[in-house]
Amino acid sequence: MSDYRDGTRCVRAGLPDPVPGEPFLPGPVLAAPYHLDPWRGPEAAANGYGRPDNPTRRLLEAAIGELEGGDCRVFASGQAAITGVLLALLRPGDTVLLPADGYFPVRAFATDTLAGIGVHVRFVPTAGPYPSLDGVRLVLVETPANPGLDVVDLRELTARAHAAGALVAVDNTTATPLGQRPLDLGADLVVASGTKALTGHSDLLLGYVATRSAELLDPLASWRTVTGAVPGAFDAWLAHRSLATLDLRLARQTGNAEAVARALAGRADVTGLRWPGLPDDPAHPVASAQMRRVPGVLAFDLGSADRVARFLDAARLVNAATSFGGVHTTADRRAQWGDDTPPGFVRLSCGVEDPADLVADIVAALDAAGPA
Ligand SMILES: *Cc1c(COP(=O)(O)O)cnc(C)c1O
Repeated sequence: MSDYRDGTRCVRAGLPDPVPGEPFLPGPVLAAPYHLDPWRGPEAAANGYGRPDNPTRRLLEAAIGELEGGDCRVFASGQAAITGVLLALLRPGDTVLLPADGYFPVRAFATDTLAGIGVHVRFVPTAGPYPSLDGVRLVLVETPANPGLDVVDLRELTARAHAAGALVAVDNTTATPLGQRPLDLGADLVVASGTKALTGHSDLLLGYVATRSAELLDPLASWRTVTGAVPGAFDAWLAHRSLATLDLRLARQTGNAEAVARALAGRADVTGLRWPGLPDDPAHPVASAQMRRVPGVLAFDLGSADRVARFLDAARLVNAATSFGGVHTTADRRAQWGDDTPPGFVRLSCGVEDPADLVADIVAALDAAGPA
């Protein structure tokens, strides 16, 4: 599949070879235990028990693995995948670098749980500057970072980390494997939430890790089995079904984000606009060199919590909701969840609506929202 372009790879990813009379994508296999061979036991078949083994999950892992260019294991959520990597690979006394501006629950987990078991936790802004990486065991970066959308040069960072003996894990949630392939850029591990644009229908939670190193994959797979952080078969099947349209959805979302960014860029009542696809965005030089497409997510400030509420009340095509990357346009005032963004800061995630309708709706809602 690797010689095909994005749309083809998404449609075909992880599908079994055609068998007359069988569906393209087999339905979810809903099983806790499976029948065992009374004589040979678990040796006789690939499936023994649902926590380690599920064929629906394996097909999804083959699909995501193809798109990322590595071996994949899926988890019950992005948090399950990321905390799994941190807990399975770090030991007391190790030092880990995390993004100071990254996904808030990961930062909270690091300061509460990791620091509590004796891991040294350091926070670095995604855009740098990065300190000396000597003595660091793992660098986890998010690029583009959620929600601020800064980026880091992965080729440069992974070269520096490897020279210092550190591993690099890249949270690829916002970009998706069509936006960038961190393993090609030198990363040891990809971690991500599949809840967002990867699956894109706002109907499931999913996480995954991908790597080319069996030495890293084996402890993570064992970690998943012993902690039980597995997605159910139905969610795995829904996720796989959604992958077929990833290229189409992202193309529309990116186009919509570009149209919205251009409409917002001219407005004095919208400050701090960030979209890495805008030529004058601080993240644009690195993003355009390492990313294959820019995500459909923008960030900006409307000045106050009240003005954000008035904007959302007036908009007909923008749903107030957290999460992002879905087919419906959504906006989230991040500060309401207790993270450290300003009160009027909004992360806007463009869906797949018609671009003219969406821009008209957003512009009208901003006008209706009045001054801060
Ligand atoms: C949403 C998100 C996560 C967590 O994923 P869940 O599926 O919600 O557990 C991790 N990292 C980033 C960048 C995210 O946006």
